Amino acid sequence: MKLYNSLSHAKEDFFTNEPGKVNMYTCGPTVYHFAHIGNLRSYIMEDVLEKYLRFSGYDVKRVMNITDVGHLSSDADTGEDKMVKGAKRENKSVMDIARFYTDAFFADCDKLNIKKPDVVEPATNCIDEFITMVSGLLEKGFAYIAGGNVYFDTSKLDEYYVFNKHDSEELMVGVRDGVEEDNNKRNKNDFVLWFTKSKFEEQALKWDSPWGVGYPGWHIECSAISLKHLGERLDIHCGGIDNAFPHHTNEIAQSEAYIGHKWCNFWFHVLHLNTNSGKMSKSTGEFLTVSLLEEKGYNPLAYRFFCLQSHYRKSLVFSYENLDNAQGAFDKLIAKIASLNGNDADSIDENAVKALTEEFKNALDNDINTSLGITVLYNVLKYKTNDKTKLHLLNEFDKVLSLSLLDEAKKLNENKKEEAAAGADSEFGKYVEEQLALRAEAKKAKNWAEADRIRDELTAKGVKILDTPEGSKWSL
Ligand code: AMP
Ligand code: ZN
Repeated sequence: MKLYNSLSHAKEDFFTNEPGKVNMYTCGPTVYHFAHIGNLRSYIMEDVLEKYLRFSGYDVKRVMNITDVGHLSSDADTGEDKMVKGAKRENKSVMDIARFYTDAFFADCDKLNIKKPDVVEPATNCIDEFITMVSGLLEKGFAYIAGGNVYFDTSKLDEYYVFNKHDSEELMVGVRDGVEEDNNKRNKNDFVLWFTKSKFEEQALKWDSPWGVGYPGWHIECSAISLKHLGERLDIHCGGIDNAFPHHTNEIAQSEAYIGHKWCNFWFHVLHLNTNSGKMSKSTGEFLTVSLLEEKGYNPLAYRFFCLQSHYRKSLVFSYENLDNAQGAFDKLIAKIASLNGNDADSIDENAVKALTEEFKNALDNDINTSLGITVLYNVLKYKTNDKTKLHLLNEFDKVLSLSLLDEAKKLNENKKEEAAAGADSEFGKYVEEQLALRAEAKKAKNWAEADRIRDELTAKGVKILDTPEGSKWSL
């Protein structure tokens, strides 16, 4: 499998530290607001990566943090804590806000078939680990105390900008929200490991530490939580592209300074979901949620389908028109699957399984090319083999794509059955009868193309047609 690595800026042959095992870390959400569908794009694509690794036979352990403290309004350690801001906005406590938006995040993930990571760890659970790591960095001379805060000293590193070829998008996000000068810093890129002093004294959650009562910086949490659960050697670290700088750059700096060797081999960054007016972001207050899409009548899985239609390393533009197209294509795909008939008497066609599985693997092995993966679903439907084999393959590939293909098809057929249960008098029944009458006329007029078109349309809607000498009969 080839996977693009942001560290080398190239597609590399994927390898792991231990044969057959993948240690994977994902930056989790800052739970001061609902996740927007841009955040969820990142989690959808990371979910596909995890599931494809499992599909390929790896034993994956995936860990995610929940940022419930320390993420300031600017990624450059200035501004108010985002959690405090959220709590003020809603007149609730920080912990209430954290609990509410953590639950909301996983509810959204459920709707989008995003699997919960094996370990989910809130930052506020790991204060001891942060203190141990910050103490170690001070002992090793990689950190200093100034103005009451503990800072990481980036001048002690041979190389700080490890993702050196920042493109304009990365740089732009790195300096969002107006960076303020912090005069305690010895070097421009030094960052806070532990705060005891900040301009905002209203910080809600504080803990005792060797440097006074205070709270951790944002970056230290991912390094320490990853070390705690995955040890000193990480195979893959994921996040949205805005995390590359400064967050991931700082994670690498402090983790490698602390453990004394290379930490993570592959960095997987998902490009942003943008709207026509720019990046979707929580802080601008203008963002779309899964619930909002549902209110507007969209199936959340159509949004997942929309994301899978493009490559994770390309920015994706969201518009309702684009989502309508995805929803339309998704519905058609489901209708086609609903018309398959997995006859028990058929046996699985092993040659078809081999050929199509190879096609699917080729797509995903090429840096998780999900849009080609979707093309393979259509190829399964077109393939000259029995329906039982097709259903088997769709089910297999859906272990990675997670579009609930068979369940959605079953739901569609059940809905149709319910409608038909009202007999030929139901709206759907009337429609089928009308179409069959038109088909009979077309046949009489020897207009075979039109007759076939009507038959195909009905079949795609899950209608089974039986032509008898007495005329056409139908069922669902
Ligand atoms: P946050 O909750 O702000 O810490 O972000 C959660 C995740 O969403 C991180 O991996 C971010 O890099 C990612 N992210 C933020 N904005 C976007 C966006 N517009 N498109 C895709 N991913 C994003
Ligand atoms: Zn992180």
